[in-house]
Amino acid sequence: MAQNRMLQFVTRAREMPEKREASVRAQDFSEIYREFAAAKAAEQAGRCSQCGVPYCQTHCPLHNNIPDWLRLTAEGRLQEAYELSQATNTFPEICGRICPQDRLCEGNCVIEQSGHGTVTIGAVEKYLTDTAWDNGWVKPVKPATERTESVAIIGAGPGGLAAADVLRRRGLQVTVYDRHDRAGGLLTYGIPGFKLEKDVVMQRIAQLEQGGVQFVLNCNVGEDISFDAIRGKHDAVIIATGVYKSRDLSGPNATAAGIVRAIDYLTASNRKSFGDEVPEFDSGELDAKGKRVVVIGGGDTAMDCVRTAIRQGAQSVKCLYRRDRANMPGSQRETANAEEEGVEFVWLTAPKGFTAGDAVEGVLVQQMRLGAPDASGRQSPEVIEGADYVEDADLVIKALGFEPEYLPKLWGSEGLEVTRWGTVKADFRSHATSLPGVFAVGDIVRGASLVVWAIRDGREAAESVLDYLAGAQAVAAE
Ligand code: FAD
Ligand code: SF4
Ligand code: SF4
Repeated sequence: MAQNRMLQFVTRAREMPEKREASVRAQDFSEIYREFAAAKAAEQAGRCSQCGVPYCQTHCPLHNNIPDWLRLTAEGRLQEAYELSQATNTFPEICGRICPQDRLCEGNCVIEQSGHGTVTIGAVEKYLTDTAWDNGWVKPVKPATERTESVAIIGAGPGGLAAADVLRRRGLQVTVYDRHDRAGGLLTYGIPGFKLEKDVVMQRIAQLEQGGVQFVLNCNVGEDISFDAIRGKHDAVIIATGVYKSRDLSGPNATAAGIVRAIDYLTASNRKSFGDEVPEFDSGELDAKGKRVVVIGGGDTAMDCVRTAIRQGAQSVKCLYRRDRANMPGSQRETANAEEEGVEFVWLTAPKGFTAGDAVEGVLVQQMRLGAPDASGRQSPEVIEGADYVEDADLVIKALGFEPEYLPKLWGSEGLEVTRWGTVKADFRSHATSLPGVFAVGDIVRGASLVVWAIRDGREAAESVLDYLAGAQAVAAE
């Protein structure tokens, strides 16, 4: 009986939830996809062929039990489907919205491989959890017993928050420190609302607070409190500080006014969405309104910048990337969304400097071609000599990626080992660092990565902290 609802992929076409018209959505910062209606979610979930070896699950970093929750959704058993989906994912509604599914679960769906169009796994995951919130099925954490041990988590991004959730459920006293005034990390101040509306993040933080997680905000570890002081106050520490050092550009006039870092630009925009006063935005410095905007880079951050500039009312928005469309690191889906909204991509171009008077006036652009593959197999961009030109610009946004801050120096903690890239050295399974009782997760270990990997790390590190504390107690009892 149940099986009859499944395997519908031959007769039923793949459908995403309705996408808002580009000209309408470009006027605001609301998400661009509407919610599935219940019948549509069930219909789309029913396209799954219930693979014996589900590659979707293998390629989900959290190994979500996708076929089972799709089947329950198709059968209308939504609460059971939600319970199953949240058992392996701390923030399913967030992953459903912003995982690059085309590279993870959906990109490995067998019916996609057979040419029928993937099951819309992310959209169903989002639908299930949004429905759970609407129906009050998502409850604050309520530990069965309280324990006395306390754990500090430095960084309130998805890695830190996922760890906080697991530890609090087990009754530990959890304190999350963050230098920002709001928790959420890049979910709050990096990723724009048109991909992830802010109330979706804030309701999770409120849920953690209601469950007893303590947040110490506006607290920059290394400045407002030392790392050693945190270690002294708590029984274990998880470092989840992300990566924030922006890669930079050199060349003539590289420091001219009007050339800004992507993280500053996106943070200012997100703060405005919260209704904050943001002097650098209000002065026009970080506002694209009426400007000719050039964004440099081809990753997800660049995509978020170009689409933010469109929404701020830029006169024109161009994205310069040194390789071509097929070789860009950013999601193809987001690139297509950006193009629909009016962004122009100028492939195979790289800046070699800027023209400027009091402020930037243009980008000195070198045209490129793709040459021989490098050691990684990717074709290296090469300059086409004599083909330079100037691209006019009033605002240039540098979105060239992020590197870690050097924590041992910043925190005066030379015993904390880092790799040659500056990321914290941590065991890939236990997430233990070189310091006893100190664990590390997310981007500060992996380098700039994905939300879903930070969640996985956070969940795993929390289990390791529990083992570590159990071991410490056993030693104390000897
Ligand atoms: P973060 O989210 O960076 O959180 C780290 C937290 O630590 C921050 O709140 C910071 O304030 C705090 N902190 C740092 N240093 C200190 C200190 N010394 N003291 C106290 N607090 C400190 N991933 C996706 O999966 N999908 C996407 O669509 C996507 N889009 C992105 C768009 C942008 C613009 C960017 C920049 C990234 C995007 N990512 C995306 C990547 C994703 O956001 C990160 O991989 C993820 O947030 C990493 O989580 P984290 O917990 O390790 O760190
Ligand atoms: Fe797919 Fe991400 Fe959900 Fe895993 S967590 S099923 S990769 S959307
Ligand atoms: Fe269903 Fe596709 Fe996963 Fe197979 S790979 S179980 S068809 S979602």
